[in-house]
Amino acid sequence: MISKFIDAHVHLNTHSSEKMEKMMEYNAGFLSINTNIPFFDEIVEQEKIILEYQKKYPGRIKYFTTFNFKKWGSSHFVDDAICQIKRGLENGALGVKIWKDVGFDYHQKDKDFVMIDAPIFDPIFEYIQENNLILLGHQGEPRNCWLPLEKMTVNSDRDYFKEHPEYHMFLKEKHPSYEDHMRARDQMLDKFPDITYVGLHLFSMEWSIDEVAYRLDRYPKTLTDVAGRVSHLQLQAKVNWKGIRDFFIKYQDRIIYGTDVIDDGIIPAEEIAARFEHLWNFHYDFFATRKTLSTPEFQGEFVGLNLPKSVVKKIFYTNAKETYGFYNF
Ligand SMILES: [Zn+2]
Repeated sequence: MISKFIDAHVHLNTHSSEKMEKMMEYNAGFLSINTNIPFFDEIVEQEKIILEYQKKYPGRIKYFTTFNFKKWGSSHFVDDAICQIKRGLENGALGVKIWKDVGFDYHQKDKDFVMIDAPIFDPIFEYIQENNLILLGHQGEPRNCWLPLEKMTVNSDRDYFKEHPEYHMFLKEKHPSYEDHMRARDQMLDKFPDITYVGLHLFSMEWSIDEVAYRLDRYPKTLTDVAGRVSHLQLQAKVNWKGIRDFFIKYQDRIIYGTDVIDDGIIPAEEIAARFEHLWNFHYDFFATRKTLSTPEFQGEFVGLNLPKSVVKKIFYTNAKETYGFYNF
């Protein structure tokens, strides 16, 4: 692993010290993303943990806030969302995360799903744009989400959707399609071209670097992260090694590294620390070396991308430092 890097997509929702010791051992920093997930703690609780870590590890920990939908359906929804964002910003959050629940969980008149480009959200995005806040977006899901389990391309998706049938869109006829989600996100970006938007998880277009490249070209203020989707890149590297490598070289200033490790107390603290360590090293081998590798995600082998050192440094460190303002690290 390189001598200093930022894991810019994590969810640090427990007080455990093991992972933080690992962070120090590897000379790393963390961007923790508060998220309105039903099985996570309340947003203010997630925030409290980060504020503690920030005091203890100065300069190394940054975070994003988000908002919940408790006032959904009432006329106060937008004001309440902006109020929650302001509270997060006052506590030092860098910007706002919007999760995939939009378009998955919320109904309008019991039949139409409200998508991310719906006018109701416009004042929130206007606020974000006017105040030059960064917007982190997880819209849609991996394309696998709309496929039956046996057709999914990587095992982690298969495991996740087996465990969370509520999010497995293949099972739900009336929910929006994958394309609906991608279109809605693009239309939102068309409406708010001045927002710096980080399309998390490769914009949920993990199955095709051409689709990711298309978004980066079409929306000059966007970036992307690889969090939780490196296996999809590895799968493509099996058949299109040069294409994947060229993609990282071409967009070297707009891709950010992150693992998407969720530390929510379900997995023991030592295991979480070990997971970070394993992923950092495994991902480094993929991006920075020419080793022949394999993964439990799919069958077969693939070769590391052997990216130039300068590109590896940007992806693992500089891009996150500059985008998220890790100025003292
Ligand atoms: Zn995440």
